[in-house]
Amino acid sequence: MIKIALIGNPNVGKSTLFNELTGMHQHTGNWTGKTVGSQVGYKKYKGETIEFYDLPGTYSLIPHSEEEKVTSDFVLNEDYDIALVVCDPLCLERNLNLVIQTLEVTKNVVVCINLLDEAKKKKVDIDLDKLSTYLGVKVVGISAGKREGIDNLLDAILSYPQSFFYFEYEEKIEECINIIYAHTSNRFKAIKTIIEGISNNQIVQEKLNQIREYLKDFNINFNDSVMNEVMNECEKINKSVVKRNSIRNKINLDKLLTNKLTGIPIMILMLMVLFWISIVGANYPSDFLFDIFTKFGNTLKDLSINLSIPKFIYLPLLDGVYKVLTWVVAVMLPPMAIFFPLFTLLEDFGILPRIAFNLDGYFEKNGTCGKQALTMCMGIGCNAVGVTGARIIDSKRERLIAILTNSFIPCNGRFPTLIVMFTMFFSITSNSILNTTINVLLLTLVILFAIFITFITSKILSKTLLKGDNSFFILELPPYRKPQILKVLVRSLIDRTLKILGRAVVIAAPTGLIIWLLTNITIGNSSIINIISNCLNNFGLLLGLDGVILTAFILGFPANEIVLPIIIMTYLSSNTMIDINDISLIKDLFISNGWTIITAICMIIFIIFHYPCSTTLITIYKETKSIKWTLLSFFLPLLIGITLCMLVNFIFNIII
Ligand code: GDP
Repeated sequence: MIKIALIGNPNVGKSTLFNELTGMHQHTGNWTGKTVGSQVGYKKYKGETIEFYDLPGTYSLIPHSEEEKVTSDFVLNEDYDIALVVCDPLCLERNLNLVIQTLEVTKNVVVCINLLDEAKKKKVDIDLDKLSTYLGVKVVGISAGKREGIDNLLDAILSYPQSFFYFEYEEKIEECINIIYAHTSNRFKAIKTIIEGISNNQIVQEKLNQIREYLKDFNINFNDSVMNEVMNECEKINKSVVKRNSIRNKINLDKLLTNKLTGIPIMILMLMVLFWISIVGANYPSDFLFDIFTKFGNTLKDLSINLSIPKFIYLPLLDGVYKVLTWVVAVMLPPMAIFFPLFTLLEDFGILPRIAFNLDGYFEKNGTCGKQALTMCMGIGCNAVGVTGARIIDSKRERLIAILTNSFIPCNGRFPTLIVMFTMFFSITSNSILNTTINVLLLTLVILFAIFITFITSKILSKTLLKGDNSFFILELPPYRKPQILKVLVRSLIDRTLKILGRAVVIAAPTGLIIWLLTNITIGNSSIINIISNCLNNFGLLLGLDGVILTAFILGFPANEIVLPIIIMTYLSSNTMIDINDISLIKDLFISNGWTIITAICMIIFIIFHYPCSTTLITIYKETKSIKWTLLSFFLPLLIGITLCMLVNFIFNIII
């Protein structure tokens, strides 16, 4: 078996290549930092098994963030046969730094120049043979997205290439490197040790001190010298092998999308269009699914009666498990199946870094960095994904702020509940297009409000618990790329939509049973759920809600999607069954249980700010390894939600 470390700068197509090679489905996307952990996959080729490690993108083997550290640690310390360095011909100069660093670690290197189709389109020629001669390594050109050149790459791997590259620094730098190299396994470790200036090994530490004094005498800064020499070499190689026949794209979209005046309004408009298509498109399949599920449910009930199945068996299964399960599927699946692919298409096109660019100034003013915008965008899909994505943030302080505030952004599981709330209490006409537009506007306002609270909370955290300086970061704006439409559609449906839905369904089924039991097992004259909600009722009323709503949020801790069905089932426990598909009936049910417009507004606030779902919370613990931060991320949104609800309830009660 041949073990391959797949490395490269961010966004050069590593994951695309990895997927092509191994048949796996790593998430790809046109932005820096989307692969935050390593993944392993296998390929059988000409009788050999090749094991590929897809590592997070990095610009250097001297890491600046958690995900870069994963790659650096692997390349420097793991046992592997070949380092496969993937490069983008359009930014070869920057990519060559990593190639040169890798060649200091191992001589078993293959350089893979990907995106040749894009280079060709942009009239950029690259002389692969010349590059190979310069670097003394095998260089293979491919277009991973089009599956071109993959076999050549695999042949290069099977030939166990040995590079004969040797980069020589100026004499005094070489002397220093060699002093430390005598104590390390490769030249790069020696360079890194001198750059970092510390070592656990006492002898090496003494040598480092000597080197420092020695270089001081000659007024040489080791780090600057090494960097400049390598940069000059990269520039020289790049100039000699890359020929650009056209200078720039005809249309510069960035003039609009990252412009101070137009950037943010266009992004908001795009979000609204996404919501609009998702809501309108979801209506019909949702109705259709409800219809089928209701008919099938009725058939199952008739069948159970005909077969004389005891009530205590079929009622919990049909009125509990089946009802909650089908609600979750019918309400969640259609909007997700539309929203995720559209969002992924925009991601593949290269929108996310532009959003981060536009919001960077705002985040900086609030004591954090623009990369938080990327984690926020991921949070729209799923907060747990947003929390893991925070690994791209270099500074620990800013990373924690991004993690603590991620659940403020309503995830996909909360959208449908929000939309049902808008439709019930804020639709003003019978014109469905107008109502959808109002829903879209409200949803966008809710997101903007959540972002506003994220800014305020980030500022407060950065002035109190998480004090510190703002980090400096370089955000790369990748070229706009034509999205790989079919691939994106299929993958986002399978990897994102079905995965998240699957999780919700797994949680919804047992919860349905529990709720049925709680609503039907009585102590005295009251069901258990009524006893619990009665206990919480006074506090609920203080928040403009009621005990049932609070109970639903508590039971909905595993997944936000099930909050609404729990409320409906609890209210129904003393009523006859209604069709939960009919929103006007649900509204009547809510109003008969004391709901007013204030309840609806407080409910919307509480949907946004309560606590992260259990999956997100577990992810937060895994990422921070700290009970303290996990607890804070639980209580922070809860405190905000309680305060806002109380405030709104208080103000409205005075006004009305
Ligand atoms: P990574 O960050 O290095 O893992 O990069 P990804 O595999 O996520 O790819 C970055 C972007 O480049 C995505 O939008 C891909 O669809 C696109 N891409 C990858 N390989 C190719 C290719 O060979 N040709 C073109 N045109 N696009 C590609």
